[in-house]
Amino acid sequence: MRYEKVTLPHSCPRCRSAQEIVHALSLASGSVRASSSFSCKRCGEAFEVDDQGVPEEWRSAFYAANGRWELRILDAGPDKAALLRRLREILGLNVAGIGAVAQKIPGPITEGTRVEMELLKQESEAAGAMADVTPATP
Ligand SMILES: [Zn+2]
Repeated sequence: MRYEKVTLPHSCPRCRSAQEIVHALSLASGSVRASSSFSCKRCGEAFEVDDQGVPEEWRSAFYAANGRWELRILDAGPDKAALLRRLREILGLNVAGIGAVAQKIPGPITEGTRVEMELLKQESEAAGAMADVTPATP
């Protein structure tokens, strides 16, 4: 899945009526794109914004709608160092953090929204690994 969205209640910034806002996550090249779109059915006020990465305040809504997902590295492939470098970049980990990830291979290494995990899968495979995205084990 390269796209997921949630719809949440949102009061119109102009007329204050109760409306809805749509937050979406999509897989862009090398990153997750987050976007919001709002359109007021009463006064016509509308806006769209987008950014990179998943806003922390969206997580609970996406987890409630689409579940938590995990990335499994089944096989690190021929160049484990390259794989770990790429994962470290995307996950923003320090040396200790990526060391802990390295010890989890093969197996689930991290969890998050589905689109985030699909990004990690894509990047891991580009680095020569075999990876899979599955619903997170509770
Ligand atoms: Zn309005």
